[in-house]
Amino acid sequence: MRKFDEDRLLVATHNRGKLEEIDHLLERFDITIVGAGDLGLEEPEETETSFVGNARIKAHAASKATGLPALADDSGLCVDALDGAPGVYTADWAETPNGRDFSMAMQKVHDRLVSSGDPEPWTARFCCTLVLAWPDGHHEVFEGMIEGRITWPPRGDQGHGYDPIFQPDGYDITFAEMNRWEKNTLSHRGAAFTKLVQGCFD
Ligand code: IMP
Repeated sequence: MRKFDEDRLLVATHNRGKLEEIDHLLERFDITIVGAGDLGLEEPEETETSFVGNARIKAHAASKATGLPALADDSGLCVDALDGAPGVYTADWAETPNGRDFSMAMQKVHDRLVSSGDPEPWTARFCCTLVLAWPDGHHEVFEGMIEGRITWPPRGDQGHGYDPIFQPDGYDITFAEMNRWEKNTLSHRGAAFTKLVQGCFD
């Protein structure tokens, strides 16, 4: 496995919530984290049908454009009663002509669950794939997941995205009711990061 030994890491995301979580997860290393949005990079089209495929696209596009090693996160919510949807289309479910609307996206998840007729608990998981890519085309892949259930109505005002309707197993609060750094210790992103740090940073 290739080690990361530079002093700057480009994080290939325009998602502020993800960037803040990643910044915090890598805080103990002496690395400057740069967001793709801060460099004015365009978001590449996510044309693959898997988390790893889309994470590869984002990491390599950002690394190639800047000559820096780049880390991409592709993640999403997979709901069992919806056959794994929204899955790789998790961000798309929030799209509107005026930007992303997660209240609408959460409502869509709930409406489809009610229409499915499946009884509660509505089991679900958040999945995260991280790809760290270097300008020479090499990359490493790390995956993490957290099991839980969809709860309704949404609860909590911390976190981002679908956090208010996701309750991890073993907890009676949603991700959005948790301190977000506590969330990092158990989340799909936290799990993938533990592997990334062990593989490339320690
Ligand atoms: P991506 O940026 O294409 O990977 O899309 C990921 C989607 O999943 C976005 O809509 C995020 O808001 C959502 N998502 C990913 N991780 C989380 C999380 O930790 N909490 C809430 N929503 C998340």
